[in-house]
Amino acid sequence: MKYIGAHVSASGGVENAPINASQIGAKAFALFTKNQRQWKSSPLTKDNIRLFRENCEKLDYQPFQILPHDSYLINLGHPEQEGLDKSREAFLDEMQRCEQLGLDRLNFHPGGSLQKISDEECLMRIAESINITLDKTKGVTAVIENTAGQGSNLGFKFEQLRFIIDHVEDKSRVGICIDTCHTFAAGYDLSTEAGFNATFLNFDEVIGFKYLKGMHINDSKKGLGSRVDRHDSLGKGTLGIEVFKWLIHDPRFDEMPLILETPDESIWQEEIKLLYSF
Ligand SMILES: [Zn+2]
Ligand SMILES: [Zn+2]
Repeated sequence: MKYIGAHVSASGGVENAPINASQIGAKAFALFTKNQRQWKSSPLTKDNIRLFRENCEKLDYQPFQILPHDSYLINLGHPEQEGLDKSREAFLDEMQRCEQLGLDRLNFHPGGSLQKISDEECLMRIAESINITLDKTKGVTAVIENTAGQGSNLGFKFEQLRFIIDHVEDKSRVGICIDTCHTFAAGYDLSTEAGFNATFLNFDEVIGFKYLKGMHINDSKKGLGSRVDRHDSLGKGTLGIEVFKWLIHDPRFDEMPLILETPDESIWQEEIKLLYSF
């Protein structure tokens, strides 16, 4: 079974996210549990937590259908101690919010070297950040998203993601989210059937499907290997519509949140319908 949805608004309180998801016919959703552009947000209130859980239950969203996303400011591989400490503190807060909401996974971008340390050093820092956070939390899996490789951001090669996993102590609580736009921008050709098959064969060999905990379903405005992260609506970008048909027909992507982060939210309902029609 496929669980398709979108990254919906949580404005006014996290408890609104499941309502917003259900209004567009989503069977999965992503959300920010705090303002994604600020370091500090007020804690979740008892009411936020209770209403979120109640709404999820009423509208039939279980934790495996929900993929919370952390703040864009966090860089778990930050080259400088101050930035690293700040990121780790904020990431712990994000994980604890997920714990409070009863969620089982948190999606985040691995981080970047800012060209001040080597890629390997940066990847080591990311793994150490994950270890520190997993030690202080329970029940929430750290789900690393593959990136487009824009700027100094790492995690655009499956080998880099594998390197992080290799250095995480509790492998039962680390996972991967694959973003189709990022994958294509990073140089994996998902626009042809042969390329799609080769990419996911390589993913399985290097990382393994058992680590896959969610997908971001986006077309790309920029071309193959552009290393630029610009999402487009399905079928409107350089990836084309076919990749989404192959994905929907492929049981390896069952039982996990498949999340649209496409730019035109007024057509999310149509995009979800279109994907289910495949
Ligand atoms: Zn994404
Ligand atoms: Zn992106």
